Amino acid sequence: MSFILPGIISLIQYLETLQKAPESYRPERCPHPDCHHVGLWCHGCYTRKPDRKDLGEPSLNPVPILRFFCSECGCTCSVLPECIPPRSWYLWQVRQVIFLLLLAGNSLNHTLAINGSRVSRTTIKRWWLRFNDCFVSFSLNLLPHFPCLGRHAGFSEFWKACLALHPLSSAMRLLHEEGVCVP
Ligand SMILES: [Zn+2]
Repeated sequence: MSFILPGIISLIQYLETLQKAPESYRPERCPHPDCHHVGLWCHGCYTRKPDRKDLGEPSLNPVPILRFFCSECGCTCSVLPECIPPRSWYLWQVRQVIFLLLLAGNSLNHTLAINGSRVSRTTIKRWWLRFNDCFVSFSLNLLPHFPCLGRHAGFSEFWKACLALHPLSSAMRLLHEEGVCVP
């Protein structure tokens, strides 16, 4: 089970806070729906390698992800910053750039060319198909959070309006909190 920290939209922001105020990352309550016990114990960490930029800058990998243990229900949870997707190697920030290019009407090949070779064509296509396939579920679960999006019925219009208001990471965090499996 993972708990997603809202408002942490870059790896640098996450790592700086981890160094200065790690205690701020301890969840207030157990995230298990039947528990919500207060007072989780630190339970070590594991590492992720989400920094896949190739711009000659030093990599921020490996990034530690904190884990916590609930003594009440025996459940462990990891605490992910909002910028790191639960199941993808690429940061939401990278995926948002690609998503916006596709929403603007660029073809897969043109999007790939603009983006360089950082993400493969197969991966870009898989993300795009997944967002299209899940549109009904994603939009229905996001509308209670962003009622103004109700004016935008189509896929492109909905996502363009949504991303003009909030980063993709925030929309995906809200879906994760609703129990929706994000791509
Ligand atoms: Zn618990």
